[in-house]
Amino acid sequence: MTDISAASISLAVLDMAGTTIADDGLVEEAFGLAYDAEPALAGYGSREAVKQFARATMGQSKIAVFRELTDADDAAERANLAFERGYESLVAGGGASAIPGAEEAIRALRDEGIAVVLTTGFSPSTQRALIEALGWHDLVDLALAPVDAGGRGRPFPDLNLTALIRTRTESVQRMLVAGDTVSDVRSAVRAGAGRAVGVLSGAHGEAQLREAGATDVLGSVAELPALLGL
Ligand SMILES: [Mg+2]
Repeated sequence: MTDISAASISLAVLDMAGTTIADDGLVEEAFGLAYDAEPALAGYGSREAVKQFARATMGQSKIAVFRELTDADDAAERANLAFERGYESLVAGGGASAIPGAEEAIRALRDEGIAVVLTTGFSPSTQRALIEALGWHDLVDLALAPVDAGGRGRPFPDLNLTALIRTRTESVQRMLVAGDTVSDVRSAVRAGAGRAVGVLSGAHGEAQLREAGATDVLGSVAELPALLGL
């Protein structure tokens, strides 16, 4: 692999839940709440089976995951709405917190002139609720949800490429993408990102992340500045 020096990375695209924001099972719990609210989800299997599917598909667009679970657009919309309400109330109840060192790492990157974009598989309203709960409005350059990138979430490369275009980054080689899931890493590889970084603070383990194509695996995003030699 070509060595990508620290100076050459000028955009960092960071996932939210499990990467910059501690998840602590909130997303899975909200899938459970959606199961309680939407009878069509029982067609897939038990509450536990739905939560397991949620874990396996973590990082992907949530509405796309509900379409897979229900096989019906209207039921998927209802389930997604119940998920969003459930997740937002868990967040409003104080369930969301920053990954230790994440804010400091983001500031360190930006101090070096590296643009930072947060991405998610949530809807924009849920993404806003998270950013509000953490007081992160001014922390990053941009926050993107799948609808901001034409509707396709991860593992498609669209969110990363939209971040690149919106920040006017020169090339995909200068883009670093970091996330806690196989879908995050695949989206980085598909976008041709100079660095596809897996982090172990969320859903998936090192072997899975490496198999997906991670160029680096870190304990958490707190180690990003050191990875880039900052
Ligand atoms: Mg994540």
